Amino acid sequence: YNDKITDAQDLVFQEYNDFKMIHPDFMFTLDNDIKKETFVQIYRNHLEQVLIILLDNAVKYSTKRKEVHISISRSTKNVDIAIQDFGEGISPKNMHKVFNRFYRVDKARSRNQGGNGLGLSIAKRLIEAYNGHLSVESSVGHGSIFRITLPILSNEDREKIQNKKGL
Ligand code: ATP
Repeated sequence: YNDKITDAQDLVFQEYNDFKMIHPDFMFTLDNDIKKETFVQIYRNHLEQVLIILLDNAVKYSTKRKEVHISISRSTKNVDIAIQDFGEGISPKNMHKVFNRFYRVDKARSRNQGGNGLGLSIAKRLIEAYNGHLSVESSVGHGSIFRITLPILSNEDREKIQNKKGL
């Protein structure tokens, strides 16, 4: 998302392909498919927090292929932000548990990597507080895709919010 924020809660997604993320060994790529102004309602800090959690995990749980791909797209109703890694992946039996508080797939091993198993549960609650969803697709040994889905704010709703704020 870019810096054009109309007010504290409207984030606008549009053509934005200039992305810099610095990491000593990882390669980050960004694909933004959104061509027209698209608004979602979320505090910038909250979206940032969720992205940090997902990117931090993508890096933490990728040992061999050190690449993270971010793609932003929209459907009629939603904006989708997908964060894909090519790391260890998550087995089907653990997939829904990773969003539970304090859950970590491999306690012994992941203890070395730090963390409490809280990140994803916080990320999910934050996104759901804005009527969005956080989901995962994964394949062991091939990697994972975490997908943030947020409802697009209709023009009508945007007007209502702006009127309420006296803008
Ligand atoms: P922290 O509280 O610092 O975020 P954490 O990374 O253990 O610690 P979560 O972010 O909630 O906690 O993740 C829960 C578990 O889900 C992790 O311990 C890990 O086993 C698994 N996991 C999360 N992201 C990925 C990923 N991208 N690839 C593989 N496994 C993952």
